[in-house]
Amino acid sequence: MAIERTLAIIKPDAVAAGHIGEIISMIEQAGLRILAMKMKRLSRREAEEFYAVHRAKPFYSSLVAFMTEGPVVLLALEGDNAIQRWREVMGKTNPAEAAEGTIRRRFGTNIERNAVHGSDSPETASFEVPFFFPTAELL
Ligand code: ATP
Ligand code: MG
Repeated sequence: MAIERTLAIIKPDAVAAGHIGEIISMIEQAGLRILAMKMKRLSRREAEEFYAVHRAKPFYSSLVAFMTEGPVVLLALEGDNAIQRWREVMGKTNPAEAAEGTIRRRFGTNIERNAVHGSDSPETASFEVPFFFPTAELL
C-alpha cells in the first residue's frame, strides 16, 4: 500500500458542538499521522473555490453558507492508504446511511451537516492539501 496524504476538515457543526477532541482522537486511533493542523473561519471565496467541483449542484450555495458559518479545523493527514482509511473512519456522506461507530454516524445531523470532510482521491488530495497548507507547514 502507498503512503498517502489527505485533507481532513472538522466542519462548523462538529466544532460548534464540541467534538474536536473526540474526532482528533479517532484520527489518531486510526493510525493516521497529523502533519499539520489549524483552526480558522473560511471566507466565502475560500469555501466557493474549495468546493468548486460542486458548483453546478443544487446544494452548492447552501454548502458554502454552512462551511462559512463558523470555524473549522483543517488537518493534513498521512499514512498507508490514508485517503480510503480516513473516508472509512468518516462513514458515508449521509449520516443516516453511515455505519455504526463512524464519525458521521456519531456526530452528523443530515446529509449537509455531516461533521467532517475527506479528500476522495489522490488527485483531489493533491489539490486540497496545498489549498490550505504550504509544503513548509507539513511536519
Ligand atoms: P466531503 O467532500 O465533505 O468529504 P463527500 O465526499 O462524502 O463529502 P460530496 O459528494 O463530495 O460528499 O459532497 C460534499 C459535501 O456537500 C458533503 O459532505 C455535504 O456536506 C454536502 N452535500 C452532499 N450531498 C448533498 C445533498 N444532497 N444535499 C445537501 N448537501 C449535500
Ligand atoms: Mg467530497
